[in-house]
Amino acid sequence: MNFDSHTSDVVAAAVRAINLLTPGHTRGREYTATGYDDYADRSPEEVEELRAYAMGLRSVFAAVDDGRVDDACTTVNTILRDFQAAPFLTRHDGEPWHLHFHAPDASWARSHIASMATGLAVVLGNPMHDRLGVCTAPACDRVFVDVTRNGTKRFCSTACQNRVKTAAFRARHRD
Ligand SMILES: [Zn+2]
Repeated sequence: MNFDSHTSDVVAAAVRAINLLTPGHTRGREYTATGYDDYADRSPEEVEELRAYAMGLRSVFAAVDDGRVDDACTTVNTILRDFQAAPFLTRHDGEPWHLHFHAPDASWARSHIASMATGLAVVLGNPMHDRLGVCTAPACDRVFVDVTRNGTKRFCSTACQNRVKTAAFRARHRD
């Protein structure tokens, strides 16, 4: 299944930002989220600003995962309002006219969050709104968007899927 390509791109960007910038656990290990490598072209201040906002986006995934869709939608609406997410056509850097979803003078982090929140809003306003999730493997809380045909994704990665499979296999063979 597919959301339109812009939505898919910005939702993928949201998953990436949340998983890189919010601490917790990943694939069975503690994750401190201290690296900046993926945003090497941005200043540490810009990345820190994005990190602060990424926590809010994480709560949207957590709410959907808990079945609290009302909370997820309320949170997204708050972000859209606070970040002045509004569509406008723009043309810059030699690109053709294209749609942006943030205040024209917003900082990089605020622009990025406004776009990602708009993408999440499209997902939540869609019958496929339950496709946002949090990894169910032990010691992992990374988020994902489930684009499988029947919506059965439970893990952030094949690494987590394999960890759970291996643990189940060992448990069966212990007895
Ligand atoms: Zn995982």
